[in-house]
Amino acid sequence: MMLLVCAVASLMSGASAQFDADVLILGAGYAGLSAASVLAKHNISFIIIEGNWRIGGRAWSVMFGGKMVEVGSMGLHGPEASINNTVSNYNITGKYVDYESVVVKSHQGQALDTQAEAAWTKLQNAQKIVKNLYREIKEGKIADMSMRVALENGQWFPRTPLEDVIEIYDYDFEFSKVPALMSTRGFQSVSDIQDKMFLSTDQRGLQDVMERFASSFMNTSGPQIKLFESVDSINHTDTSVSVSTTGGTTFMGKYAIVTFSMGVLKSNNDMFNPPLPAWKLDTIYKTNMNAYTQIYVKFASTVTNFWGSEQYILHAHPRRGYYPIIINLEAMGFFPTGTNILLFVVTGEEARRVDRERNATVKAEVTAVLKGMYGQETPEPERVFVAGWTGNPYTLGSFTSRQVGDDGNPRFMEALKSRVGRVYFAGEAYDDVMDGFLEGASRSGKHTGVKLWECMMDNKCPQFNPSPPTPPPSPTTCEAPLLSLPLATLLACMMAVFLK
Ligand SMILES: Cc1cc2nc3c(=O)[nH]c(=O)nc-3n(C[C@H](O)[C@H](O)[C@H](O)COP(=O)(O)OP(=O)(O)OC[C@H]3O[C@@H](n4cnc5c(N)ncnc54)[C@H](O)[C@@H]3O)c2cc1C
Repeated sequence: MMLLVCAVASLMSGASAQFDADVLILGAGYAGLSAASVLAKHNISFIIIEGNWRIGGRAWSVMFGGKMVEVGSMGLHGPEASINNTVSNYNITGKYVDYESVVVKSHQGQALDTQAEAAWTKLQNAQKIVKNLYREIKEGKIADMSMRVALENGQWFPRTPLEDVIEIYDYDFEFSKVPALMSTRGFQSVSDIQDKMFLSTDQRGLQDVMERFASSFMNTSGPQIKLFESVDSINHTDTSVSVSTTGGTTFMGKYAIVTFSMGVLKSNNDMFNPPLPAWKLDTIYKTNMNAYTQIYVKFASTVTNFWGSEQYILHAHPRRGYYPIIINLEAMGFFPTGTNILLFVVTGEEARRVDRERNATVKAEVTAVLKGMYGQETPEPERVFVAGWTGNPYTLGSFTSRQVGDDGNPRFMEALKSRVGRVYFAGEAYDDVMDGFLEGASRSGKHTGVKLWECMMDNKCPQFNPSPPTPPPSPTTCEAPLLSLPLATLLACMMAVFLK
């Protein structure tokens, strides 16, 4: 009898479903964890569903050559105060990089530092023009343009391998795409906020920072986190969201927050049922997922430093983007001398190519590059480790950055960030200013957590409206009520009456 009463009461309230939690958070990267921290603060129940065996997402640390190295994010970007805050909260060992600590070498070993000075000056002059153009773009006076067009306005036309690699250092290295695809508005708005990077050499790894952050508000080995659960369908109705995984488990929640990368969303958007509306899909397709590959190179302990003491080594090669940047992880303040680890970074199409190559091929290419730069007697590395993300099914790329065409205007961003029914979104790609970075993931996760909380508490649940009502055209005839007329028309009407 009691059961019958409960069933009737439940039917009357419309709550026929059994919820596993109020909110299902899909993905345990920094955005998912940050959203969870907000819900935890407000005592809203959640379950985090993660396909991988670990939390942290694109913050992932592994042992290589006797050191803990970063497979994904290796540092903190953002406003200096925010970086310092994270560094001191988590007691992270590391150092701010010095982008001025750089040498340039040709692929045949020629030191190009003197010629590089002239090229930097030329580029810096162009960058002054780019900043002026950006100001006009921001003020709405002119449309966004590619960084290539903006730089050409400043008379920057790279014609030599040296100029190419200098351009890569300032642009591709940061936004992971060529200037022709880069939005000037997007690039400059990020550089306005941050031009500093704190490189972590912490031997617990940045992944451990994620774990410590999660432990501050939840039990990371408790029932609130489900690892090894790869989501393959998200079914949403007016009253619930049910999420199924490839292992056959189904979770039921009142809401969901999806934090999958843009790469995953682009390739698997058929996981949503009903499908995402066109206005949402449009923003997802326009948000470009980049390729950025880190190649760790370890030399035997018998090898003595042949690469020098500067933090960055640029490799000027006739093929633009061919292993252009080497980070000297033994530069002062990073790893101790004798660690013998260099880090190569490749971006864009070259990164996609390298990700697909076999380890042995990459090792042979890196060895040839080093022999070209430092002489044929240069020792072969003992091991290389390619940290490629384009083939990783849980990311399908490295991080996003604004591309020209997705001009980051407020309406675009509103649609990108908007919920679709009971499904909310968060991740590095959704932040207006720090998209692409850990800081952006955290900001976006917290923002979405607060939005969902406001929806649950106060029923404030705004959703993007693809066709907002157009304001009625302003009346133009003198028959209209006088107070509804624009000032110029009103004056003209009064003048006409006066002249009659
Ligand atoms: C090589 C590289 C270098 C970087 N360098 C820096 C840097 O120096 N500084 C910086 O600030 N940022 C850097 N970043 C960017 C930074 O790491 C990301 O912006 C940030 O980690 C993204 O967090 P997120 O929570 O938005 O996404 P993610 O970390 O990708 O989290 C999403 C989670 O969803 C999970 N998931 C995906 N699909 C499914 C599925 N179907 N089912 C279940 N789970 C799924 C994933 O496994 C992942 O855990 C770098 C990134 C890369 C790849």
